[in-house]
Amino acid sequence: MTRNPVEKTSVTMLGLGAMGTALARTWLAAGHPLTVWNRTPARGAALAAEGAKVADSAAAAVAANTLIVVCLLDDASVDEALAGADVAGRDLVNLTTSTPAQARARTEWARARGARYLDGGIMAVPPMIGVPEAGGYVFYSGSREVFERHQEVLRVPAGTTYVGEDAGFAALHDVALLSAMYGMFAGAAHAFALIRKEDIDPVSLAPLLADWLVAMVPAVHQTADRLRSGDYSKGVVSDLAMQVAGTPTFLSTAEQQGVSSELLVPYFELMRRRLAEGGGEEDLTGVIDLLVR
Ligand code: NDP
Repeated sequence: MTRNPVEKTSVTMLGLGAMGTALARTWLAAGHPLTVWNRTPARGAALAAEGAKVADSAAAAVAANTLIVVCLLDDASVDEALAGADVAGRDLVNLTTSTPAQARARTEWARARGARYLDGGIMAVPPMIGVPEAGGYVFYSGSREVFERHQEVLRVPAGTTYVGEDAGFAALHDVALLSAMYGMFAGAAHAFALIRKEDIDPVSLAPLLADWLVAMVPAVHQTADRLRSGDYSKGVVSDLAMQVAGTPTFLSTAEQQGVSSELLVPYFELMRRRLAEGGGEEDLTGVIDLLVR
């Protein structure tokens, strides 16, 4: 049921939103027989014209193949869509964004129904799907067996990075990276706000800002090494005491420019607390220990 004469694995795709449609297209284009289902049937019409079979129900789509890929809005929609489906014997790959706890609960849900479960966190936007040079990839965690069996199929839309048998780890990696991204965007927002009322073209600041952020990025490796060794002071170049002493300059500059410092203050406050605890000779790694409750 899952192999055609040219040995391309058949795939069932549940969910034809922006992401589901992008994923589905790549499997069709690569010659994988594809069965699709979407709550609003009209969204399957274009894919039907491209050769996909459109199932009448999620249950029928699940019955059609062994490999079932799910990409719905959220965990609640997965519950709703799969409520009447018999997933026994299926390899369920769920690319719906979820929390680690939801992914772990979904593993148990699948196990109780006789299915194998692999969770995924997509590190790409739809235009990056099927475009290897765009660098998008998907974190996978959960059943190693499912990952290894279907790796070639899963590699069609985007790169694959397996991060462990704990089904929650894909979601955790996804959220960790995106959280860091929001921190970076917050910093960039503050930088642009500082020059907003001046005769400085944002377009001229942008390359300077981008190059500076890239130059600072390797610091994450040092942070990781320090967390692993537990020594936050060895080889420190810019120590916390010096950095905390510099924070009034940032706050005064923001004030002088008429810019709110609300994005900077929480981080500075953590730096100040770590200094007060005696971390003056460290770098910024100690802030992490203050965050972990
Ligand atoms: P869309 O909003 O475009 O599509 C949502 C999909 O979920 C549609 O197929 C919709 O069906 C379906 N759906 C919503 N509620 C239910 C329900 N109760 N029962 C059944 N189906 C339901 O979202 P995307 O395709 O963009 O995103 C899908 C997943 O991919 C999300 O978890 C998202 O976080 C993740 N993702 C998306 C990225 C992006 O940039 N788009 C990037 C990385 C991850 P219907 O058509 O009937 O409304």
